Amino acid sequence: MAITTKDLQHLFAMIAVDILAQRDHLCELDGAIGDGDHGIAMDAGCEAAARAVAALDATQTPPTAVFNTAAKAFLNAVGASSGPLYATAFMRAGAAVKDRPELSDDDFLRAFAAMAEGIQERGKAKPGEKTMVDAWRPAADAALDAWQPGASFHQCFDLAERAARRGCEATRDMTAAKGRASRLGERVIGHIDPGAASAAIVIASIAKFAQH
Ligand code: ADP
Ligand code: MG
Ligand code: MG
Repeated sequence: MAITTKDLQHLFAMIAVDILAQRDHLCELDGAIGDGDHGIAMDAGCEAAARAVAALDATQTPPTAVFNTAAKAFLNAVGASSGPLYATAFMRAGAAVKDRPELSDDDFLRAFAAMAEGIQERGKAKPGEKTMVDAWRPAADAALDAWQPGASFHQCFDLAERAARRGCEATRDMTAAKGRASRLGERVIGHIDPGAASAAIVIASIAKFAQH
């Protein structure tokens, strides 16, 4: 079934609710190996994005504009490094579905993969460097790998969700090559990366959305 602007408004609202529920936990994770603001940053960004897209007239706004509006709102609301990373992700998602009045499953999957690509290019982090890329990259790869003729859309995103969770867990054993945590050397071993943890939450929200 086609994914409409109204559906995407609902998706951004879901993400904001799920991130808000984990805000304090994300701050605790960031407190251990960063500056403790990651939950606040993600909550502010997701809340601003959800509010901005909710204000759009669904009958007049194509999906690409939903993503672009979310990107601007997220960037304006967030001073931390996650701001430009997610703003780029949403911009890329918007570009991936340019000119589409509604999204097919295939369009949505391409938008999802474009988010991972955008985060990776903006932050220049590779998998294994203890960042949100360690959740986004395997999630996008899992969804793309599973997307074969006859594949079920929601199953692709279930696999993406699981891959994100595994990727997030794997950051526990890594040292950091990017961001604040990179200054702490071996001291970050034993701690999950906060950006990977929030990515796993966002991807889980998307997987929940993909069930409908
Ligand atoms: P800040 O460090 O500015 O306070 P946040 O706390 O919002 O920013 O986000 C920290 C998270 O950002 C890290 O846990 C990591 O996942 C992610 N991150 C930092 N630098 C990069 C980068 N270059 N590429 C991808 N992700 C990054
Ligand atoms: Mg921080
Ligand atoms: Mg900060």
